[in-house]
Amino acid sequence: MTALLEVRDLDVSYGHGEDTLHAVRGASFSLRRGEIVGVAGESGCGKSTLAFAIARLLRGSGHVEGGEILWSGRDREPIDLATADDESVRRVRWSDISIVMQSAMNAMNPVLSLRSQIGDVIKAHDPAAGRRERGRRVGELLEMVGIPSARGRAFPHELSGGMRQRAMIALALALSPQLVILDEPTTALDVVMQRQVLSELKRLQADLGFAVLFITHDLSLLVEIADRILVMYAGTVVERADALDLYRAPFHPYSRGLLTSFPKVTGVRAELTGIPGTPPDLRGLPDGCPFHPRCASAMDECKRETPALVPRRRPDGEATPDGEATQSRDVACLLYQPTGRAQ
Ligand code: SF4
Repeated sequence: MTALLEVRDLDVSYGHGEDTLHAVRGASFSLRRGEIVGVAGESGCGKSTLAFAIARLLRGSGHVEGGEILWSGRDREPIDLATADDESVRRVRWSDISIVMQSAMNAMNPVLSLRSQIGDVIKAHDPAAGRRERGRRVGELLEMVGIPSARGRAFPHELSGGMRQRAMIALALALSPQLVILDEPTTALDVVMQRQVLSELKRLQADLGFAVLFITHDLSLLVEIADRILVMYAGTVVERADALDLYRAPFHPYSRGLLTSFPKVTGVRAELTGIPGTPPDLRGLPDGCPFHPRCASAMDECKRETPALVPRRRPDGEATPDGEATQSRDVACLLYQPTGRAQ
């Protein structure tokens, strides 16, 4: 199947010269139509920068230094969003690709009703839609995300946090996009509301068939919603795998640490171990594997060699920790490369 989005060897930086901060380095992945791909990692690992680069919404001195972001949207020739002119990007953004940013629910215009805010987006991209038509579409969108259409008259401060987040999702779906990028969409919500918004989102995605790029620091959350997962550390993708495979048997020590950093909702209670230390300063990464100062499995060569992201298949017969079948994925760790101990 042709990929809807193909990111190839993407480098994104902030600033120039000696102070350049390399926020994303060599990221590659694809996203198929109707697929949910999750991106996980701690704060500052580059996941939000990756999302902003795809939507061409990098702020300040942020810029794409290299690589491609190939978008194959509806009825249009594929375009490289990294280099396309602003007009081409404007046509794609919102109508093909929409984005719900972190804390977006606090970014709604406080003096405009939901109906006006969502109606304005429809008007900007479909000037032929009259007031009545826009009102009808806004009502449908609100109902779709579980908000009674009559609440369209409400202002943002009159809604609960969960409702505002649902309203943001309605806004993102206003133009029937093929890809919705969600950057930490449930972080500000309590656990119960988080579950409600997630199940609503999954239902909508199954009904409407859009693809999702879901960004979060909570890897255990992604396991429930995503088809495939990228784990990022210090600006690079360190593991790329099917969600269930990653959950059953994370290969990279960092992925293992992330999975033990959050409590499981079901199953046997286990002590949270987490990951010692803090992420490195992206202006001065340690030599070798950037994770080595925090890695319990680090070897001497980890201080010298930087592991590449390479395909790794467990040999036939090698069981995962819970005895499941063999798996394959891409992983950037010397344990899984020719000289590593796991061979
Ligand atoms: Fe740990 Fe070495 Fe693998 Fe890096 S390369 S994750 S330090 S074992």
